[in-house]
Amino acid sequence: MIIAIDGPAGSGKSTVAKMLAKHLGINYLDTGAMYRALTWKALQQKLNLEDENALCRLMEQTNIRFQHEQKGLQVFVDDINVTKEIRSPSVTNHTHYISGKPRVRAIMVSLQRRIASEGDTIAEGRDMGTVVFPLAEKKFFLDAKIEERAKRRFHERGILHSENSLDDITKEIELRDQRDTTRKESPLKISEDSIYVDTTHLTINEVFHRILQEVEPLLKNK
Ligand code: C5P
Repeated sequence: MIIAIDGPAGSGKSTVAKMLAKHLGINYLDTGAMYRALTWKALQQKLNLEDENALCRLMEQTNIRFQHEQKGLQVFVDDINVTKEIRSPSVTNHTHYISGKPRVRAIMVSLQRRIASEGDTIAEGRDMGTVVFPLAEKKFFLDAKIEERAKRRFHERGILHSENSLDDITKEIELRDQRDTTRKESPLKISEDSIYVDTTHLTINEVFHRILQEVEPLLKNK
């Protein structure tokens, strides 16, 4: 069973997907972390981020994997723990080079499908319901007003990278939204069969219960 959750940055999808995966005892797939992980490695190697052939080669030579630990889900690139590094402003601001390349995405998508084939999965990203898992049993599109999304990111970032102001983060998210929704390859969009949830005025618990209400009948019918 696949539950697909898409939406822009700060819509609450990661937090809720993690909560649901834990509650339901199923796998959680953070596809944004995969694009970030490859971006991190490409930056480390000072690759030309416009060179799609080089990025495809890099992707083929890279082992991206997730590991559940007490402190949360950890992301590894070739056995280096990059969980914190992939959230840096530099990685965030360069990920669009990777996510805009069709052939890199194709390799990423096959890896995402392979990971999800290991068991029931909640997959979150930008193209889960539209491209990667078109036959997902349930699809959600989470959204929220930009001001609210920026505020959420600002509070999260405060802990990790306190150098960003709320204004910087608002601009960064606006730019990311614009890039993610207008790119040619697998843009962020709402699929016809997805359930739209505006999380602007909802607490994370309310979003969790909203989604659970849709998903629980599926589990009962299994
Ligand atoms: O979800 P997160 O903010 O970590 O994603 C980082 C970036 O990775 C997004 O802005 C987007 O460009 C890219 N991405 C994507 N497709 C996905 C997940 C993320 O293009 N399925």
